[in-house]
Amino acid sequence: MLRKKIIIGNWKMNKPPSKAKILTKALSFAVPEDREVVICPPFVSLDVVKKMLKGRKIKLGAQNMYFEESGAYTGEISALMLSEMGVSHVLVGHSERRAIFHETNKEINKKLKIALEYKFTPVFCVGESLEEREGHMTEKVIERQLREGLDGLKKSDVLKMVIAYEPVWAIGSGQTATAKQAVEVHKHIRAFLSRLYDKELSEEIRIIYGGSVKPDNVDELMSKPDIDGVLPGGASLDAAKFTRIVGFKAK
Ligand code: PEP
Repeated sequence: MLRKKIIIGNWKMNKPPSKAKILTKALSFAVPEDREVVICPPFVSLDVVKKMLKGRKIKLGAQNMYFEESGAYTGEISALMLSEMGVSHVLVGHSERRAIFHETNKEINKKLKIALEYKFTPVFCVGESLEEREGHMTEKVIERQLREGLDGLKKSDVLKMVIAYEPVWAIGSGQTATAKQAVEVHKHIRAFLSRLYDKELSEEIRIIYGGSVKPDNVDELMSKPDIDGVLPGGASLDAAKFTRIVGFKAK
């Protein structure tokens, strides 16, 4: 089964509307047929980016979302709101959300469920810290994130997701996992999902890598059959670097 490569740019807390406009304009290239491209601006810039993407193949993603639909949750943004903004993808469980905002696997599970209800493609992020890697805990940590994050979800739900393996020690650190390290974990995730669901799911689901992806390491990562795409953060803020990572072609 062909897993189409997907590249997701996470702008994090950068690019207010004025700057988002400039960056989106600089990405005015055709998306290669064999790739899917998503950009995730901050909430306040979704509208301007959405308007600029009209008629283009780049998709719009959100970086987070609350699991309740509406109510007294000051400062939060719901799936209902994001669907009105024209969002198609949503990052769930990014390591910065887990570490800085203390998001738990239980909350991530609720977010995945509401994201699916609203027909978004959830991009479910998992990954180990440096301490966990050095303590040979990588597989255990990721298995737990997957088991608890996917609790109660059917095979057909999980197949709608993208899993992003993002080792915490590689995010924003300039220290990319080697392609070999990434492939090892991707293979492990597939094997675990095969046990949790079945072989078919493990072969169909897309697993992408994130953590200091740059123009000079993207080709090797993307050349691996087990790596179905990448999730650059810092490099997605630079039009030339993102263009190179995506492989945009001039129109
Ligand atoms: C990310 O934002 O998920 C990420 C991987 O960031 P960076 O590419 O900057 O490490």
